[in-house]
Amino acid sequence: MNDHQWESGWADLHLHSYCSDGVFSPSQIVDKAAAMGLKAVSITDHDSVRGIQEALIRAKLWNLEVIPGVELSTRDGELDVHILGYFIDPKDRELSSYLRRFQKERLKRAKKIVAKLAELGVNIELEEVLQRTHNKGSIGRPHIADTMIERGYVQSYDEAFYKYLGNGKPAYVPKFKISPTEAIDLIHRAGGIAVLAHPGMDLAPNDVLHLITLDFDGIEILHPKHSSEKVNFFYQLALKHNLLATGGSDCHGDRKGRTLMGYYNVPYRFVQHMKERLKLWRGTE
Ligand code: AMP
Ligand code: FE
Ligand code: FE
Ligand code: ZN
Repeated sequence: MNDHQWESGWADLHLHSYCSDGVFSPSQIVDKAAAMGLKAVSITDHDSVRGIQEALIRAKLWNLEVIPGVELSTRDGELDVHILGYFIDPKDRELSSYLRRFQKERLKRAKKIVAKLAELGVNIELEEVLQRTHNKGSIGRPHIADTMIERGYVQSYDEAFYKYLGNGKPAYVPKFKISPTEAIDLIHRAGGIAVLAHPGMDLAPNDVLHLITLDFDGIEILHPKHSSEKVNFFYQLALKHNLLATGGSDCHGDRKGRTLMGYYNVPYRFVQHMKERLKLWRGTE
């Protein structure tokens, strides 16, 4: 979406820091965004808001806006559904207590995965995995994959998922999850906007049509896994259903050699539309 030269600024609204399974610190993300000339970013860590404060502080160095965000893992029957929350209050008590519970569940799951790997002859210690998480952030399969590479059990990150950690593979353990509706309500009660993440990544079109009947405020139209046809399709869908359009790089760092940040920016007016929606709700300002 970089062809509209007349846009007044650009935003990347989907970024993972090392407070979940990204590689960069929140400050590094902010510095990179400023160097790229972005007007706004959102840190949307998986099931964690721990990177937001650092990003907000760092952004004061630059003329950069940081939108507090989160990406919640939910489950709808057999479907894994990721839900983005924007403009949430990271200090919201209910959200914080839910995220604390989620972190405990993630730790239990990591223990189970490490035990399964041991049965398969892959001997890594939970402690080594935990050392890869930062600021008490979300522990996930990427940290386990990185540890497996370091110990020489696999050659690459993708191999770790393909052989062991991916859905349905021998060391796979499902995550504790809430329903999409519960996550949407949680985001709303924390003052935020709920957005269906990357609907074109692994959801069938019928699933998307069903999901958008829930209380979503928006839909992520621009994402590295969306072809330009999908971007257009989801944009039309957003217009038809009065949903906000969002997008971003879903950058997790440079594990795979290429850093996606900077290549999937949305016009800043998307952010303005979010703010207008919030003003309508809050009836103030
Ligand atoms: P978790 O939250 O622990 O289930 O880990 C999910 C994360 O692992 C995703 O957000 C991706 O960053 C990464 N991931 C999931 N599946 C794959 C895969 N097949 N190949 C590479 N990375 C993956
Ligand atoms: Fe991830
Ligand atoms: Fe996601
Ligand atoms: Zn993501």
